[in-house]
Amino acid sequence: TTHVVAIDGPAGTGKSSVSKLLAAKVGASYLDTGAMYRAVTLAVLDAGVALDDPAGIARVVAGVDIELVPDGDGAKVFLDGRDVSGPIRTDHVTSAVSAVSAVAEVRTKLVALQQQNAQGRFVVVEGRDIGTVVFPEADVKIFLTATPEARAERRHKQNLAGGRDSDYDAVLASVNRRDHLDSTRKVSPLRAADDATVVDTSDKTLDEVLEELSGLVST
Ligand code: C5P
Repeated sequence: TTHVVAIDGPAGTGKSSVSKLLAAKVGASYLDTGAMYRAVTLAVLDAGVALDDPAGIARVVAGVDIELVPDGDGAKVFLDGRDVSGPIRTDHVTSAVSAVSAVAEVRTKLVALQQQNAQGRFVVVEGRDIGTVVFPEADVKIFLTATPEARAERRHKQNLAGGRDSDYDAVLASVNRRDHLDSTRKVSPLRAADDATVVDTSDKTLDEVLEELSGLVST
């Protein structure tokens, strides 16, 4: 049987870090659905298809093969057999991903892939619509929130730690823009499921959040 821990929320809440740690702690596998949307976005950009061309985006998604291969605590992402784990994290992809993930055909294909991937496993699934759309029957649903400032601060520090240029105000604007697009799109907008436990991570350390989430998962 499938046991799903659904973790949703906007960017910069510490969602990825805590999801990976939680999966390792409770002995579950980890599924990063954002990585799939990022991989499709890279394919769209590589194909030279415009972001305001949903029919073109639908054609690209119909032809791509996306695979997530477990790697340590995380996973490597393959697009048509090519390891794109690095390229999908660039600003170029990040600023285009909301437009691509708003296309219905993209969501239909990736949701099916996510459901198939989790089949028969104990899995922590991280995304935006996991508790609402992908696994509405999930055993545990968590929705992480944090103030825009706390989320921008985390992203800014991650950028600096990764040796990337970063400007706090630009990061804040980009975080706000992406959340606005993700929350207002027509298909599967970002929102907490009615039965989700909402956890505000603004003033909590990663360890504190991990502790709180572990308490919600009975193993
Ligand atoms: O989690 P991450 O920031 O990598 O997700 C990238 C983007 O993918 C989000 O901003 C959102 O547009 C999209 N996404 C989605 N549904 C999911 C996961 C991600 O629409 N379940």
